[in-house]
Formats: sequence, C-alpha cells, structure tokens
Amino acid sequence: MKTYLLVWNPAKWTFKDWPQALRDMEQIGFYVREWSCISKKPLEGDAVLLKKTGKGLTGIIASGVVLSKPYVNHHWAKNQETKQKQYVHVRFERLADYTKGEILPVNDKADFGFIPQASGCVLDDAKAESLMRRFRDYVSAPIIAARDTVPSTVKRVGISVRTRYEVLDRDAHTCHYCGRSAPVVSLHVDHIISQAIWRQNYGELMTSQTIDGKTYVNVNDRNNLITSCADCNLGKSSRTGHPSHLRGLPPSGR
Ligand SMILES: [Zn+2]
Repeated sequence: MKTYLLVWNPAKWTFKDWPQALRDMEQIGFYVREWSCISKKPLEGDAVLLKKTGKGLTGIIASGVVLSKPYVNHHWAKNQETKQKQYVHVRFERLADYTKGEILPVNDKADFGFIPQASGCVLDDAKAESLMRRFRDYVSAPIIAARDTVPSTVKRVGISVRTRYEVLDRDAHTCHYCGRSAPVVSLHVDHIISQAIWRQNYGELMTSQTIDGKTYVNVNDRNNLITSCADCNLGKSSRTGHPSHLRGLPPSGR
C-alpha cells in the first residue's frame, strides 16, 4: 500500500462542500469526493493525506483511502474547464476542521522529504506511516491552532450590536465630546483607547488589562467604549487616537 499526498490551496479552489463533508463525517463516518492527482499509480485501497497550503494555517486536514484508479476529467479551475486533469476518487475518513483552527502542522522537508507543488505525489512509506499516526492522534484530540490568519496589526475586533446599544443608552444617546444628539448628528460607539493603541501598548485585544488602575475585560469593555458623533470621532482620529484627555472637558459647542 502506498500513500499519496493530496494538496489543496484555498486561493485556487473553494472547498464549498466543506460543511457537507463535516456533516457526512458525523452522520456516515466518511466523505467521498474526487481530488486531482498527478501520479498515475494510485490503486484502490492506497492511502491519502490532504494538506492545506497557501495563506493562513497550513497542514494536514484529512486522511482517507483511494477508491478508484486515476481518471481524466475536466479541469477543476474556473475558466480552465476545457482542459483536462487527472483525478482519483477518495473516501476521506478523518477530517480536522480547519475552519475552527484544527490542523496538523507539518514541516514539508522533514515530514514529506520534498516541498509539495502538485497534488498526488507519493510519500515515502516510513514518513507516511508516521504522518498517518500523527494525524490520527491529532484528530482524536485536536489542539486548536491560533486562528489568526490576518496580520495582527490590521485585524480588528467588532463591537456587538447589543454592546453598542448598551453604550448608547448609558450615554443617553449623546456625544460624549460635544454633547449633541441624534438627529442633529449621527452617533457612533467608539473606542476610548483605540484598537491600534491597545494592541501597541497592551498586546492582545481580547484579553483583560488593567490600565491606569482600571480593569478592562478586553478592548471592547464598556468602559473603553464611548458615544461619539462623526465629527468628534474624526477629530479624535486626527489627534492622538487616545481622547482620554478630552474627558471631562465641557462640550465644545461646535
Ligand atoms: Zn460630538
């Protein structure tokens, strides 16, 4: 029995069936689909591992067995349907839900002995056996990888609708800085310590911090949120991004 390494790059093809795959796994214990395979040698009963490549988390997300010898079909890529591509049918028997951060990280050189460029290259038997075992162990007790696929310098954390309303109510639907209310101005719920400043000075956005003697649950703690009109919000941004010095100032009346 041989083991083939299938490869998936989300930038090239969208795995629309992933939720279905998860459902199938839960309900019938496997998920069948065709996958492109460059080798002509796979036989029924050979093993496969599927590696997610490209941006974000990379690593093994599925293992299974080959159900068919390779066959030729239309290319999977959009606008390339007139071209042909070789496939095998695969029954995936273990999945790691990468959408939840489950993925078995691998080191291409050490774990495969090569950097996979195409889907369906054969793996060294000993390396394959070791990877299969690691993946099986991983799936039975997945360690969730860090979810962060967006550079942490730009990733932001949204404020929930409920929190927004609570802050607006607390602030009597009035801009904290100029004292105007709707409908004269449109109101926003804004961070006192901006996410960028928070990250720069205190690190993780969603962990608790004590700042100037005040404890915040996270960057979206109500005490770090304030009602602001668009004008003041913009003015704030162009000043320092940290308007706490404005607190307690009388309304500017603008
Ligand atoms: Zn204002």
